[in-house]
Amino acid sequence: MTAPSAVEIAESLKTSLAAAPQRHLIDGKSVESSSGQTFETINPATGEVLTRVARGNAADIDRAVKAARRAFSNPAWRQMNANDRTKLLLRLADLIERDADELAVLECLDNGKPAHLTRLVEVEGSIKTFRYFAGWPTKFGGETLPVSPRGGAQILNYTTREPIGVAGLIVPWNYPMSMAAWKVAPALAAGCAVVLKPAEQTPLTALRLGQLALEAGFPPGIFNVVTGFGDAGAALVEHHDVDKIAFTGSTPVGKAIVRASASNLKKISLELGGKSPHIVFPDADLDAAAAAVASGIFFNQGQTCTAGSRLYAHASCFDRVVSAITAAASKLKVGNGLLPDSDLGPLVSQEQWDRVSSYVDIGRAEGASLLVGGKRPEHLQRGFFFEPTVFANATRDMRITREEIFGPVLTALPWNDLDDLVAQANDSEYGLSAGIWTNNIKHAHRAAAALKAGTVWVNCYNLIDPATPFGGFKQSGWGREHGRQAMELYSEVKSVWVNLS
Ligand code: NDP
Repeated sequence: MTAPSAVEIAESLKTSLAAAPQRHLIDGKSVESSSGQTFETINPATGEVLTRVARGNAADIDRAVKAARRAFSNPAWRQMNANDRTKLLLRLADLIERDADELAVLECLDNGKPAHLTRLVEVEGSIKTFRYFAGWPTKFGGETLPVSPRGGAQILNYTTREPIGVAGLIVPWNYPMSMAAWKVAPALAAGCAVVLKPAEQTPLTALRLGQLALEAGFPPGIFNVVTGFGDAGAALVEHHDVDKIAFTGSTPVGKAIVRASASNLKKISLELGGKSPHIVFPDADLDAAAAAVASGIFFNQGQTCTAGSRLYAHASCFDRVVSAITAAASKLKVGNGLLPDSDLGPLVSQEQWDRVSSYVDIGRAEGASLLVGGKRPEHLQRGFFFEPTVFANATRDMRITREEIFGPVLTALPWNDLDDLVAQANDSEYGLSAGIWTNNIKHAHRAAAALKAGTVWVNCYNLIDPATPFGGFKQSGWGREHGRQAMELYSEVKSVWVNLS
């Protein structure tokens, strides 16, 4: 028997989704909102309603936080040995793998991106993340430290790592399942209990992830999911019994979270916007560089925090690189993500389409030259599709050079002098990532050292792995996800002094 196609899986999912509204997952139970309210989640490829989803409010957040606190305080969880926590995380990864085809299509329906990419990035990426963090509970501990007390007392000093407590996790719509996994996996590995608030546009895979965690054997209340709008996120941030917030999303909401969290000084980590420079030196492999710049901006319809949205190509190779990118843009197939040959799906929402389109108008009005794209593809009259777009003749002060567009829009600028290039690349409120293409090892290391960015890729772009830290300088965020740094985000250090004299 052949495996069902994405279209066949989608038909069956649409039927089951339409049958009943999706409800919160609180204390291990599927529950309605206390208000009884629901909202629609839309298929961005068609504009059709997929299903209705419980609209959480402050009372629902309070129920979820109370459930998380109870579960966190329960000795069954607090005293669970590290190896058993590892086994639960591995089991969850196995269950995601078991349901991989369905999860990939569910994400495609809710977010729009092609199912072959949701499979690769969201599903395989989440499995890798859970397996990576499953290794940490048995390795994450404190240390003994050589303190020097006055008077010669014999002191044993050691540190321990304790789970921070109840963590509120607020994630965006651009990589819904991966962003949830990036936060849930280290939080559970560290021994926390979580309340996850997915984006209103893409709540469906977060609910499935919560259900799979229950099936894996996590105790009820350890992993809660409350769906809803920004007011539910804000209630989570303001809640006095939440110890930590981890957020990925826009810089303005990140700032609002910092202000709101002051009520109980909960710990905050933020992964925010970007306007990443992608730099091409004249000595680079120009074909490889152009291909990487194109995929660095157009992948996921440009809705990527690390999107390389500013191209700086050396003046001597600028025309060649830009024409290779515009040729690549014209060849990309924009279409329904259920079709296996679609390279780009739709943008996530009408709101995002309007925002991206308004930046094309802004770029034109500012005097930049639109080389390709800038509108809805003619063959797609419904859904939120947008053509891959390239602007040239831009200047450093234009809004299309400075502001995060979060769509498939590249602004190309030539450079001549390395110091001036670095100054231009760093002339941004953001500092999330940067790419460098050169075959000169000195150029590569000089530029990597000078760029103010949390991640620098040399002769590659957008490589991400749970083993290596990810996060931003400047207004791109606080803290680092992935690696040991993520375990630190979800734990407190305790220093213990024992007088042995
Ligand atoms: P937001 O930053 O508004 O949303 C991200 C998450 O935060 C969502 O779950 C959202 O809920 C929630 N939220 C919204 N307001 C609050 C609040 N006051 N307190 C707590 N949580 C809140 O992003 P948008 O969806 O509005 O996208 C707008 C722009 O943000 C994009 O165009 C892009 O520039 C940037 N962005 C950046 C991302 C990144 O990865 N760096 C990811 C997504 C967006 P709800 O969905 O219900 O509003």
